[in-house]
Amino acid sequence: MSEVSMEKIISLCKRRGFIFQGSEIYGGLAGTWDYGPYGIELKNNIKQLWWRMFVQDRDDMVGLDAAILMNPRAWEASGHVSGFSDPLVECKKCKKRFRADHVGDKCPECEGEFGAVRQFNMMFKTQIGATEDESSVTYLRPETAGGIFVNFKNVVDSVHPKMPFGIGQIGKAFRNEIAPRDFIFRVRELEQMEIEYFVRAEEWEKSFEEWRQNVHAFIDATGIKSEGVHELDVAPEDLAHYSKRTIDFEFDFPFGRKELFGLAYRTDFDLSAHSAASGAKLVIQDEEGKPPFTPHVIEPSFGVDRTVLAVLASAYTEDELGGEPRAYLRFNKTVAPIKAAVFPLLKNKPELVEKAREVYLMLKKTTPQIMWDDNGNIGKRYRRQDEIGTPVCITIDFDTLGENPSLKDTVTVRDRDTGEQKRVAIGELTDIIS
Ligand code: ATP
Repeated sequence: MSEVSMEKIISLCKRRGFIFQGSEIYGGLAGTWDYGPYGIELKNNIKQLWWRMFVQDRDDMVGLDAAILMNPRAWEASGHVSGFSDPLVECKKCKKRFRADHVGDKCPECEGEFGAVRQFNMMFKTQIGATEDESSVTYLRPETAGGIFVNFKNVVDSVHPKMPFGIGQIGKAFRNEIAPRDFIFRVRELEQMEIEYFVRAEEWEKSFEEWRQNVHAFIDATGIKSEGVHELDVAPEDLAHYSKRTIDFEFDFPFGRKELFGLAYRTDFDLSAHSAASGAKLVIQDEEGKPPFTPHVIEPSFGVDRTVLAVLASAYTEDELGGEPRAYLRFNKTVAPIKAAVFPLLKNKPELVEKAREVYLMLKKTTPQIMWDDNGNIGKRYRRQDEIGTPVCITIDFDTLGENPSLKDTVTVRDRDTGEQKRVAIGELTDIIS
């Protein structure tokens, strides 16, 4: 893959309104980022693509939106209170803290010695209600999966899914990362798209393989460069105690090969643990006369922010167009924040503006993500749209109005990647942009 620098991606994201530092005017807040006007469109397109592909288009999946705040007993049962921690070391000299598994023997900042390694729990604690005693402590969820397991019985009792089936959820999660870094790769407030897919114990390998392929299908649909994606089968000695197999899907980010998504076979660990701790019967009985059983779970887990970053890194392209160097985002149509931009050739000619407005409003009816742009000259508008990754620009000129009668009601459509322009009838535009 060609080298793309993070500085260039971060600077384009800020300059063009994709992603800003969290609380920037106050000096920022480490590990938080805010999505701007185009960033939110890109992120929503990615989430909608996932939801459509894994929830709406399948008849073995349903969706859920559970509360971020949960009864703390759920996090005790899942093992997060005792075990959701990273090894922390502190430099004796400069006092900076690092994740022990991310550094060597000496402080990377000042070469100082490290103190002893200790476990640091990454859950954000918070207080529920007005009293400050222990009973009111809870946590911001560190993953969305917990909300799925605690609603297993509700979903089974209300919609009666047939085995095997899955529950999908998209939402925020919070992790007090020791060292947030690499832009939106490792943040403290993140968003996840997670699936718990419930199978019979003997079906797990087949289902695991299906989900492995589904993860690749999603990667392809987002436009993430597949040659940059690598599967890492987690070695048996590194597996969580309840997992029999885990694959990390790694991506060649500009700062190195790092985890993008995960796929884990979690056995019946979660349902059994929540069943034991809550007393609820988290089982399935789908054949009369047969005993109820606890399903096993395949868990594909996708970070939204890491997807956005991998999509940006895959789309970022530098080339030369008309003898000028340019940098642009080569998004596919599905994820592009703006599907097409509509321009009047000149903004001071009312008849051009009126016709362009008509075309703009017509397209917006079926595709809301259409942008109006009449700022500066055409060259500047193209540059701006290339940078935000708009696949096509549509210009309304005097020929559209009938100056050349044979071209009446046609417009120029300019392709982002090639810069080529062609004349098409207004009636064809809806097909071109969809
Ligand atoms: P890492 O080893 O990078 O800390 P993890 O193995 O702890 O990640 P999981 O607990 O498997 O990650 O979380 C599932 C997914 O959530 C990850 O594959 C990733 O896409 C995303 N994710 C996890 N932690 C973060 C974070 N701090 N910032 C952004 N995304 C994250």
